[in-house]
Amino acid sequence: MSYVGGLLFSGVIYTGFKIFDYVVLPIVGSKYVNPARLPYKASRLEKLAPIDQVAILVAKLITIMFVYHCITFVMNEEVSGMVVNLNIVDILKSIAWWPLHMPFLFIFYDFFYTLWHWALHWPPIYPWIHKHHHRNLSPFRGNDDAVNTHPVEYIVGEYLHLFSVYALTLVHGPGVHAFTFLMFIFIGGSLASLNHTRIDVRLPYLFNVWAHDFHHRQPRCNFGQYIMLWDCVFGTFRQEPADKVKSTPTAAARPVATPPS
Ligand SMILES: [Zn+2]
Ligand SMILES: [Zn+2]
Repeated sequence: MSYVGGLLFSGVIYTGFKIFDYVVLPIVGSKYVNPARLPYKASRLEKLAPIDQVAILVAKLITIMFVYHCITFVMNEEVSGMVVNLNIVDILKSIAWWPLHMPFLFIFYDFFYTLWHWALHWPPIYPWIHKHHHRNLSPFRGNDDAVNTHPVEYIVGEYLHLFSVYALTLVHGPGVHAFTFLMFIFIGGSLASLNHTRIDVRLPYLFNVWAHDFHHRQPRCNFGQYIMLWDCVFGTFRQEPADKVKSTPTAAARPVATPPS
């Protein structure tokens, strides 16, 4: 890739981050879609320290590398076994498989992520990698708080997506279109960002923002990234007592996420 091409490619990835911040999250958290906000039950990391700024920058640079490797994988059809074209029929065919492909991807991804996240909390290594992310007891910035992790943690979390798609292609390669991969990354990025806002999205048995928010304060539970299936299986799922009975306040009643910096 040329110097100019690299800059353009990086610009596209940077724009992708901004789409989460300025399009996806505002729409999902709007008063028409989901005005409810999680209450603050612990202090939030009000000001990003230089170490946070560096971690966020490094994560975004890693993302550029990750997307480049994803594209390399997809374009090598012999390895990926995926369908790569702009044929609308092929895209629709792959979408028809989403009721099976998407659950596979998220369940497969979260199996390894849950174990990895659990391992990061092992006391001998916790201070060296994952403690940085838990300095923020009440995430609220969205994407910036989501990617504010140690690079080792971030790399594993990102490349697990590639591994998950690779596993799917081993099972059903010709039925997987590159568009499926794109949407998996987009949905995953949106959910990971939402996990670090105060937007109280609740999709019973599928996805709940409060689960990861609770994990930031109670780090012995809710290790999943997107779904809590494996926490339920491993017995580490916990629901915050107050959340069982209390509906969430409106956006006007509680502090809301400030615009991402
Ligand atoms: Zn987090
Ligand atoms: Zn954790």
